[in-house]
Amino acid sequence: MEQLLRDGLSALGLPTEGIPALVRYADLLVEKNKVMNLTAITEPADIAALHFLDSAALLTLADFRDKTVADVGTGAGFPGLPLRIIEPSIRLTLLDAQNKRIEFLKEVCDDLGLADAECVHARAEEFAADRRESFDLVTSRAVAALPLLCELCLPLVKVGGYFVAMKSVDAGAELDAAAHAIEVLGGAVERIADYDIPGTEVRHRAILIKKVRETGKKYPRPFAKIKKAPL
Ligand code: SAM
Repeated sequence: MEQLLRDGLSALGLPTEGIPALVRYADLLVEKNKVMNLTAITEPADIAALHFLDSAALLTLADFRDKTVADVGTGAGFPGLPLRIIEPSIRLTLLDAQNKRIEFLKEVCDDLGLADAECVHARAEEFAADRRESFDLVTSRAVAALPLLCELCLPLVKVGGYFVAMKSVDAGAELDAAAHAIEVLGGAVERIADYDIPGTEVRHRAILIKKVRETGKKYPRPFAKIKKAPL
């Protein structure tokens, strides 16, 4: 795993100092996954590529240095935790609706000495009541379809900041379907970036949505409403 990470991070032009922490994180993930459903990806080479390098690629697409970053629906920590390990100046908040996953992430952060990383058990649409418009960047991977996801994430982003949605390269129709939601919630698509995960044939897409004005106070709505009537 170490060599794959070294090669992959170097190919992305990223620092490699975080490799020991990533290797330890992978060990903790595989161990905990034996007793809790955290990930279907368990081979070290796949964890390196499909979790760590996929997450790390975001650092090449936006400036994360010294930024407040919330990772919505982080699950076992992706993409947020690898981002923080590789770019230590990030002030990270990991958010998930499942407390077991948040408890796991607290253990990992303790183990890795990441005392400043905030691990929050909450639903994104409820968390917005306290922390709306307060993050420079919000990330999310594999959580929900984009129209719905935008209502969970864009209210948390400061005006001038970005929501970075990690999607597959065939997300064109999803993006079209989200156009209205993005507009209503105060966003504007600034960039669609397809990237290759180094050492694999896998190509993914990051959609960078800039927050161009404040989100109306009526958003986000309760989840039942978001789901029943997506914007
Ligand atoms: N982002 C991780 C990844 O890519 O490996 C985890 C993806 S997992 C399929 C989706 C996660 O989103 C779950 O852990 C779930 O609890 C969380 N989630 C779903 N809806 C959420 C919401 N409204 N607020 C916070 N977390 C949510």
